[in-house]
Parts: sequence; structure tokens; C-alpha cells
Amino acid sequence: MKIRHIDHIGIAVKSIEEGGKSLTDILGLKLQKIETVAEQKVKTGFFPITDSELELLESTQPDGPIAKFIEAKGEGVQHIAFRVENIDDALRELKEKGIRLIDQEPRKGAGGARIAFIHPKDTHGVLVELCEK
Ligand code: ZN
Repeated sequence: MKIRHIDHIGIAVKSIEEGGKSLTDILGLKLQKIETVAEQKVKTGFFPITDSELELLESTQPDGPIAKFIEAKGEGVQHIAFRVENIDDALRELKEKGIRLIDQEPRKGAGGARIAFIHPKDTHGVLVELCEK
């Protein structure tokens, strides 16, 4: 698989408004866009940094994956996303290696990206997202 760069780092927050204010006040980053991904019960806010972004994730439902993450671990880094050239090839390669995947097939992410998550049990506790844009 060919990884191009770190596409974004996903940070679980209770509120994009409050989390985003900190990123702006402390780091001078600016919110570019907010997008809701209904299937994932999440609202995302993107703060671009050259080729990468910080992605703030706020749950839209009390039973959503981000709400559960915050309940278990508190706010903080939730996943790291790598931009790949071809996500279908990447998933095929990982399956051949016997790596456990959360998504067997790519699904739709924010910004029209095709994304898939690798199971954190195979990546030392780090939730890794692959994305193709
Ligand atoms: Zn992400």
C-alpha cells in the first residue's frame, strides 16, 4: 500500500464550538468547514494545517461511537488517518496479511472521502483510518 501523508488526526470533543475555540486561541488554527456524517452519528469540524488537518468529532447522538469513546476515555485523540493512493488495494493487501478490519469495504466519510478503519487490536491500540480522496 502506498501512504501519501497523514491526512488528519481525529479528536473527540464534547463540543466542536468549544474545542474549536481552543484550537483557534492556542494554535491559531481556523475552522474551515463543519459537516455532519449522519450514518456515523457525528458532526465533524476541520482545521487545515498544510497537507493535513485536525478533525474535531462531536457526537450527534448519545449512543454514537464518539459519545461512547468520550464516556470511556474522555476527550482526546481518537484516530489517525493516513491518505492512501488506492483504498481498495490497501484493504485487499491488509486482508491478505490477516489484519483485522473494522470496515471490510470502504465507506463514505466527510468531504466525500472513501474511508475504512483498521481494528485497533492489530495496531497497538491506535485506531487507524485509511482514506482516499
Ligand atoms: Zn477521520
